[in-house]
Amino acid sequence: MARNSGPVCRLCRREGMKLFLKGDRCFKEKCAFERRGYAPGQHGRRRSKVQGYGIQLREKQKVKRMYGVLERQFRTYFKKAALSKGITGATLLQTLERRLDNVVYRLGFASSRSMARQLVAHGHIQVNGRKVTIPSFLVNPESTVSLREKSRKNEQVKICLDTAKGRGVPQWLDLDADAFQGTIKQLPTREDITMPIQEQLIVELYSK
Ligand code: SF4
Repeated sequence: MARNSGPVCRLCRREGMKLFLKGDRCFKEKCAFERRGYAPGQHGRRRSKVQGYGIQLREKQKVKRMYGVLERQFRTYFKKAALSKGITGATLLQTLERRLDNVVYRLGFASSRSMARQLVAHGHIQVNGRKVTIPSFLVNPESTVSLREKSRKNEQVKICLDTAKGRGVPQWLDLDADAFQGTIKQLPTREDITMPIQEQLIVELYSK
């Protein structure tokens, strides 16, 4: 499946909640979900009740779309989480949070995960002082994530950082905005992920 390049607000409307895919616009009145909080399409307003398999599928799609991950990679994350010692659902979410594009977004260098993904892919981001261009790179505790010296003049990033300072960063991260650098204090726990996700439904779906 190719990466979604269509109108992303439709994804929020399909999942019935804000997925925060468009940066600042998501916090403004212009948000499509605020204005039309029903499913897209001709029959969106009279969507029938979803049950059983449908609920599990929607939960999986929601999380995939939130983190901008495609099916094959998502399934790989699930398989690794299932083989690990911890709780499968929590480990899956922890892995998604550890992705470099997500960390860049959480630190406030970017206003959305897609912008963060672009910053990483275009070589603006360093991990422990070395350039990393792979958005799916998984960070570890005590790693530092920083903006490259020549990318620090980027006006868009400065605006994002100013906004992030106001909103704050998750407690598992430490941001030094003046140095354009963040540190991973510890791996995120389930409690650190505040979006309404029922990961057990995803586990049930993939365990069939
Ligand atoms: Fe979703 Fe953001 Fe679009 Fe609102 S503006 S519908 S939260 S992507």
